[in-house]
Order: sequence, then structure tokens, then C-alpha cells
Amino acid sequence: MKHYLLFLLPLLAYTGSAKAQTVYSEKKPYIYTPQEVEQGGFMLLVNKVYRLPQGYVPRDLQYANDRLLCAKENTFLNATALDCLEQMFFDAKTSGIELIFFDGWREEALQQRYYDNKIKEKGYNLATTLVAPPRGSEHELGLAADILSTVHQMRDGHFALTSTGKWLISNCWKYGFILRYPQNKIEKTRFLFEPWHYRFVGVEEAKKITQSGLCLDEYVEKR
Ligand SMILES: [Zn+2]
Repeated sequence: MKHYLLFLLPLLAYTGSAKAQTVYSEKKPYIYTPQEVEQGGFMLLVNKVYRLPQGYVPRDLQYANDRLLCAKENTFLNATALDCLEQMFFDAKTSGIELIFFDGWREEALQQRYYDNKIKEKGYNLATTLVAPPRGSEHELGLAADILSTVHQMRDGHFALTSTGKWLISNCWKYGFILRYPQNKIEKTRFLFEPWHYRFVGVEEAKKITQSGLCLDEYVEKR
């Protein structure tokens, strides 16, 4: 548990402890050191306020296209997360559900492009509830998977109403994934509901987080 202490330091600063007065925000984010990223492991909180160091590339990415049905070429994910995702896809198929892996690891330059384009298209206020800023996306960590189905391939709220969307929400924790941006946590996550975006945290933590009813941002703050 010791390694979590270092990881919590910026959060203490954020809550305004007597020693550290710095308040981090979307406009003034906290930037993790490479060591903090390593120590945070599968539980590292990455969002608009807590961001990855510049040029960060995860070490243990694995190629997914020869193991799962992927929507794009050259899809990568963290090796452990990919093993669990493969099992999820297999089990879903035995329940008659065909999943598609839409997006895994994303490099910083691509995230920057997505972010800039969305701001041009929708304006800053709406765009920033839809796309994470560069170095503030879990996709850059290699621990986020966008998952849809062969019958519904749009990243929209309606996906949650499909049998696949419901199956994912109920079963993801068994494979170490959590629904990262739930409908009832928009104020906390600062992202609109994304029933296709799942974050790998490991089976044990996924179970605890799901049972707690908290989003990852809240869960990490309270531990
Ligand atoms: Zn995503």
C-alpha cells in the first residue's frame, strides 16, 4: 500500500492541506512525474486535472488486432488489460453478443488532434466535455478501451440501451474494467455519459469500485 502515499500527495494539495496550498485545476493541471505514473499502476487517476508527463508512452502495450475483433488497424492496449478484454470478448460471444474493440492506446499527438478538432467543431465548453485534453486521456495510459457491438457502432448514449451496452455495464467488472464516465457522475468526471468507454483497474479494484457506486475520481480521492 506504501506506493499509494506518493500518489496521494497531489490530491492532498488539491484539498488544501496546511503544507501545500496549490490548488490544481483544468487550467492549472498537476503533471505526474514518470515515477508517479509507474507507482500509480492500474489505479492511476488521469483526467483533466491530473495529467501524464509530456511524451509519455506506456511500456507494456500489446497488439490487439490478431486477438480481438477491432474496428481499426494497429490497435494496442496494456498487455494485462488485453488478456482480460480477450476473455470478455470470448464470454460475450458465448452469450450471443459480438463486441468490437474501437479504440485502445492513443498517442499524445493524436489526442491533441482530436482535442483541437473538437474545439473547432463544437466550441471550447462543449468540446471539453467530450474529448480529454492531451495527456489527460486514459487512452494515452493504454488502460482505456472503447467497446461497441457489431449491431451498434456509434459512440452515443443510445448504446447503453442496447443488449450489448447493458451486458457491458453489468459484466465489465468481472474482467477488471469499470464504466468510467457514468450518467449519474457527470459533475464529478466532467465528461458526458460514455457507455462505450471502459477503464481497466484490475479485477479486485473493479469489483470494489463498482460496489461502492463511486466514479474513479471519487474513489481515488477517498482511499
Ligand atoms: Zn474512450
